[in-house]
Amino acid sequence: MRLADLKQQVIEEAKPYFQRIDEVSESNTVKVLNAMRQLKVSDAHFKSSTGYAYGDISREKLEELYATIFKAERALVRTQFVSGTHALATVLFGILRPGDELVSLTGEPYDTMQTVIGHAHESKGSLKEFGVDYRELPLIDGKVDIDGISNVITAKTKVALIQRSRGYSMRDPLMIEDIEKICAAVKRVNPNCVTFIDNCYGEFVEVQEPIEVGADIIAGSLIKNIGGGLAPTGGYIVGRSDLVELASYRLTAPGMGDELGASLGDPRLLYQGLFLAPHVTAQALKGAVFAAGLFSRLGYNTHPLPTDKRGDIIQAIELKTPEKLIAFCRAIQKYSPVDSFAAPEPWDMPGYEDQVIMAAGTFVQGASIELSADGPLRPPYNVYLQGGLTFEHAMTAIMAAAEELEN
Ligand SMILES: *Cc1c(COP(=O)(O)O)cnc(C)c1O
Repeated sequence: MRLADLKQQVIEEAKPYFQRIDEVSESNTVKVLNAMRQLKVSDAHFKSSTGYAYGDISREKLEELYATIFKAERALVRTQFVSGTHALATVLFGILRPGDELVSLTGEPYDTMQTVIGHAHESKGSLKEFGVDYRELPLIDGKVDIDGISNVITAKTKVALIQRSRGYSMRDPLMIEDIEKICAAVKRVNPNCVTFIDNCYGEFVEVQEPIEVGADIIAGSLIKNIGGGLAPTGGYIVGRSDLVELASYRLTAPGMGDELGASLGDPRLLYQGLFLAPHVTAQALKGAVFAAGLFSRLGYNTHPLPTDKRGDIIQAIELKTPEKLIAFCRAIQKYSPVDSFAAPEPWDMPGYEDQVIMAAGTFVQGASIELSADGPLRPPYNVYLQGGLTFEHAMTAIMAAAEELEN
């Protein structure tokens, strides 16, 4: 079949899934809108500040908004977080003390978290160097071993790390109902163990967020879903007040916590991006469903399948050869609004073990809520496709990649 005909067929088949995505987007839009109405967001909150920035109303209102939307006690939302990893590491270093134990319940964590933890391989300044013990509960067929939780979590475990998204792996992302079961299983063994969710790529994919189903604290990046494509940089932490407070002492300094920190640049972008985030996340999800439909019809293994439930915005496609992985990424780059003329090359990215190739012709550098494709150069040469500020763009670039691989 011609690719153009295949495209129409894939769109037709995707309709019921698109409808479900629209329903989730509507529910989350109402959630964000109501928080903005209730907390009386106004023009005055969009002004930047300087110096210590005590009493910065832009920063304070934004953090109230995040806390409300996530149904959490407290939030720390800062452009001073350089990335999602920084926010996640701030939680871990904020809560854990020498001799404490951290357990990952979702197998091997995301690559950049491994250098933070420092157990898989040597890394300077890691939790390991500070005397934090670490253990992992391996996944079984890509799923969390719920029954194994009672063996791996002990009275001594201080923090359970739970990664919502698949990251660079073929495991399944967690659905909110999975997070609920995992948190309950942890609390049955040790009610004091902190349940900490790496929420990257999961925001607004479902109508609930992890705090609502038993997570104590969560963190993520502002240049993924929740920044709505407009946030220029930053990260967030939301959760139990005492835990967010501990994290704030690690971000700034003991005694200072969250009371300082200037709203630099244009704080409006963080508000406006948050407002757009449910819709932008839906655009990205539609792009992922389309890519899964098209590439599975072309004979590739896709995770998830076009018909599967989705817990994050990532679409993995097994491309099988390094040549196809590189060609796919180059096509996505070529059909990007920024740097379309560049040809991505595999490189040794800091924090990652294998060489990685990345296509990201984005307005915000490295923003993976904008259409991007990447993958480590290791078998089975999965490409991880995510983002897309508009479905129309995602579809155009995905079609170009398909043409490239089929010719
Ligand atoms: C993106 C991501 C992170 C953090 O990555 P940064 O590039 O530092 O923002 C952590 N965990 C997962 C699962 C992610 O997808």
